[in-house]
Amino acid sequence: MVTQDKQLLKVISPREKHWVGDGFYVSSIFSMHSEDYKNISPFILFDHAPPKYFPPTKQKLGVGEHPHRGFETVTFAIRGEVEHRDSSGGGGTITTGGVQWMTAGSGLVHDEFHSTKFSQEGGEFEMIQLWVNLPSDFKMTNPRYQSFDEDDFPIVFKNNNKLNIKIIAGSFESVVSPVETFSLINIYEVKSLKNSKLEITLPEGSNTLFFQLSGKSWIGNKKIHQGYLGIFNRTGSLIKLKMEGNSKALILNGDPIDEPIFAYGPFVMNTEKELIEAFRDFQEGKMGNLVL
Ligand code: MN
Repeated sequence: MVTQDKQLLKVISPREKHWVGDGFYVSSIFSMHSEDYKNISPFILFDHAPPKYFPPTKQKLGVGEHPHRGFETVTFAIRGEVEHRDSSGGGGTITTGGVQWMTAGSGLVHDEFHSTKFSQEGGEFEMIQLWVNLPSDFKMTNPRYQSFDEDDFPIVFKNNNKLNIKIIAGSFESVVSPVETFSLINIYEVKSLKNSKLEITLPEGSNTLFFQLSGKSWIGNKKIHQGYLGIFNRTGSLIKLKMEGNSKALILNGDPIDEPIFAYGPFVMNTEKELIEAFRDFQEGKMGNLVL
């Protein structure tokens, strides 16, 4: 069978930034309400807090207690550290280069703050929060918390070690990530030290997104700048990239979850009835509380 190239459908530019709480100044690149949703699923939200300097402070900067149900939040601490606690007993610090994969499932409440150490020292802060949808069969699964430091992810080296591919989720050339997911998902961080070409074969019919973290890349004759996101067509399975010089990007790939979505605020369900239930269950305290 001939492997067909995946075509780039469009490139989304960084959005105007807004504050999430008082710690995260984010550009919301896409959400499940986007017109491109069909080509983005199973990913349902992507917030990028681009590099920003925070001076040392004794204040706790971030977002206080709030609920989630029906999906997973994946937090990438690109620079700086994030502390988290949730009502299922999960918690800890996402250190620089680390990733937290939190399954909200049937529901929890949590908070998200700059770590105490980062706040005291101050510095450059950069973060991504990605929301991953859960298939209807798993929307009410038990909450779960998976935490990984930078060194926990396997790396595949290419181009005389001038290009490396960190496997954050799924697998690449039979190298497997330690992250457990509920549907087929591959997430790679690709880093080049000099001009490099890369071809990646992904599952036929899957959705693929490309986010430029630093430097620049080329997809065909389209240049992708820092903070921009490329969306590929579902058709085809081969993506061809050129990373220019020192360049870092994230590739998000997954089987689309073609199910109806009823979402509002922190809840992402399949029906209006389930959405109403989520609000009621939260108000009745069924998603738990944080121990102060
Ligand atoms: Mn949250």
